[in-house]
Amino acid sequence: MCPSVRWIKTPSKNRLELGPKTATLPDLLVMDKERRLIIAGNWKCNKTVAEALDLVNGLKRELVAVTEADIVICPPFTALDAVSKAIFDSPLRLGAQNLSEQGYGAFTGEIAPGMLRDLSVRYVILGHSERRQYQAESDALVARKAANAHANNLVPIVCVGETLAEREASITEKVVGTQVRGSLAGLTVEQVEQTVLAYEPVWAIGTGKTATTAQAQEVHFFIRSVVASLHGETTARRIRIQYGGSVKPGNARELLGQPDVDGALVGGASLEVRNFADIVKNTLQATA
Ligand code: PEP
Repeated sequence: MCPSVRWIKTPSKNRLELGPKTATLPDLLVMDKERRLIIAGNWKCNKTVAEALDLVNGLKRELVAVTEADIVICPPFTALDAVSKAIFDSPLRLGAQNLSEQGYGAFTGEIAPGMLRDLSVRYVILGHSERRQYQAESDALVARKAANAHANNLVPIVCVGETLAEREASITEKVVGTQVRGSLAGLTVEQVEQTVLAYEPVWAIGTGKTATTAQAQEVHFFIRSVVASLHGETTARRIRIQYGGSVKPGNARELLGQPDVDGALVGGASLEVRNFADIVKNTLQATA
């Protein structure tokens, strides 16, 4: 934790200031986005190829004119090829949901970065809480995967977030700070700057419970201060931090309107054209 760094608003730009964190949240709730928004749909283990094509064709129709934000869809590996071909003439960008820490070789069941690049994949979700929980992925493994992604021109979307028990024990900052430091370990300043972080409180994923705007902003602010303590103010100002956890058309506008929230990682609501398209449209109205 780096309590001596605070993120303040100036009339012209955000800047980090050294000193006690005295700014109150209402002071921070001013729209002044200097980072490009990134909204990503994590389809998880859903959709056959035919279903994926239905979804992506609907999204193409709805989002054809969107150029002011990065819109990323992350289908399962089995649909990447078909979806890649379907979106080549659209503003949609392709992401994968995992990546090996290795390259090509005798690693049964793994996916090497070259295989993703071959399908025009640009982003890869790493360290999602479901992988941390079910595949016991550690911060160190996530950091090695993130380094492998960067070495191969893939942008990692690195997920962090506390469980309900951890929030109730008031150790959110301790947990999230450890995850951020561990998952970015070994990356260069330039690589950290180009990484996307996703703050996803585990208690809000797939539960219908969303962090309040104040809770989200508070943790995003904290994450930015951790990045500042590691790599300085410029990097902290440039890194994009998404919020994830039951984002819906009805709450996206307010959540993504927070000064340190630079986009969303959307699970359930990204599986349906109307919901995902409305999240994007409502958000862009909010930040225009
Ligand atoms: C996610 O899995 O990354 C996620 C945020 O899911 P949901 O939107 O369904 O909570």
